[in-house]
Amino acid sequence: MNLSELLAYQSRKYPEKEGIVTLEERLTYREWNDKVNQFARALSRLGVQAGEKVIIHMPNTKEFVISYFAVHRLGAIAVPVNARLVANEVSYIYDHSDATVFLTHDLLFDQGSQLAAEKYGTFVKTGAPKQPWHSFSEILEKEVATELVNDAHEDEEASILYTSGTTGDPKGVVFTHKNILTVSSMMAVELEMKPSSRMLHIMPLCHSAPLHLFLAGGTFVGATHILAPTFTPDLMLDLVAKERVSHFFGAPVAYLMAAKHPKVTETDLSWVKYWTYGGAPLSKTEVEFVREQFNTDSLCCLYGLTEAGPSGTLLLPEEHDEKAGSVGKRAALHCEFCVIDEQGSEVVSGRTGEIALKGEGIMKSYYKDEKRTEDTFMGDWLLTGDMGLVDEDGYLWVIDRKKDMVISGGVNVYPREIETALLQHPHIEDAAVIGVPHPDWGETVKAFVIQNGQISDIEKECRSYLETQLADYKIPKLYEELDELPRNATGKLLKHHLRNQARQV
Ligand code: ATP
Repeated sequence: MNLSELLAYQSRKYPEKEGIVTLEERLTYREWNDKVNQFARALSRLGVQAGEKVIIHMPNTKEFVISYFAVHRLGAIAVPVNARLVANEVSYIYDHSDATVFLTHDLLFDQGSQLAAEKYGTFVKTGAPKQPWHSFSEILEKEVATELVNDAHEDEEASILYTSGTTGDPKGVVFTHKNILTVSSMMAVELEMKPSSRMLHIMPLCHSAPLHLFLAGGTFVGATHILAPTFTPDLMLDLVAKERVSHFFGAPVAYLMAAKHPKVTETDLSWVKYWTYGGAPLSKTEVEFVREQFNTDSLCCLYGLTEAGPSGTLLLPEEHDEKAGSVGKRAALHCEFCVIDEQGSEVVSGRTGEIALKGEGIMKSYYKDEKRTEDTFMGDWLLTGDMGLVDEDGYLWVIDRKKDMVISGGVNVYPREIETALLQHPHIEDAAVIGVPHPDWGETVKAFVIQNGQISDIEKECRSYLETQLADYKIPKLYEELDELPRNATGKLLKHHLRNQARQV
């Protein structure tokens, strides 16, 4: 079994069933699979061979899902790239991945693809061709749709996904077909996906959760995929109601934006069986707010990371009453978790250590980085770089990233705890906490704060507020007001930018 065969199988089983729904058109599984055959033939005519890397720089469109499966049909390796990245970020991934072909979309042509076009060889763009570009629809339509069979073994490499780059440069994570099929089948079981399920894809499909868990997971059962090219809370709410969506995945920020939208309480959201969130924490207060605004008790938390496929843990809807803010007590199907100390021994409940994950969905390696691959595995266990603890009831809590931990005077301080406290202040809109070098204590804690203009002395106000919330050794010694915090295309905070900035002062 491989990803190409998965789609071909579903098109034989459900030829007339709706496979893809976009804002403009609807394709059955047969039509989708036919176009995959046609486009695979067109790519092959352009010289694409098994094992070559193909960049897919596209938003969530029919062209994305056709390209993704067409690349697999040739036994080539898909490298999906976030449509929101800017030219130098796209270029970094193009160079690093050794891709030979660049597929892009008209919507993005000025945003990185143009730059790549000047540097590299073979390109396919969705609209009218302009040398050296080929038009997606023109080259596809010249080809026949008869079935092309790819008998790639499940252990062959299928794709390279680039991490968000939250802690440094994005890393290329290599997955085999087996890794992807493992996590997709896991999600299909965990979230009770069925042929009648309707998945809304409004988060970028270049990330592992949307792509492997929801696109491949939904295809695993023959579900219908609804594709939206850009996220707005308005479009999200409209599509959920209009398309009777049963499964949704979104980053916490998408939930919070939708929950604050004036339309949320008037929209019929009752079709959704699982409102799944992950990729970043959603606090207990935020969970309560979203549950109330969406009028739902179907929120489901996923914890994982690109390198894990992402397999990891789940906090099920019914566990949210008692344990919102944690990431659950059960590893997903095909996965195990534990919390370990510096020596690699499992720590007792209540003690903080690094979270490790094990399972068939976990990446094969980092692309072209043997050293990092070796350092990231302890036997079969993937070291996540996340610090966590298991409470007395067996629930896992993600405390912070190991790289973000501050060691001040020999004591560990977790910035996320301080940020959560600062965000409870009514006039603080955003906050980021880091460690900066200190001659006596090794590091000291610094807070960057965005306020709504109501605070006149930010340092005094933050200090006196935090004194009521936290132990004194956790209270930042340094404060700086900013207009905005550096975030990447997925909205994740880029703390290494703040650290570099602090070092230069
Ligand atoms: P990079 O590795 O390039 O720094 P990244 O770590 O942000 O990027 P991702 O794989 O996108 O790459 O993010 C995974 C991380 O997101 C996890 O390691 C964890 O820190 C955080 N995370 C994911 N899901 C959750 C969750 N449900 N609750 C809390 N944190 C989460």
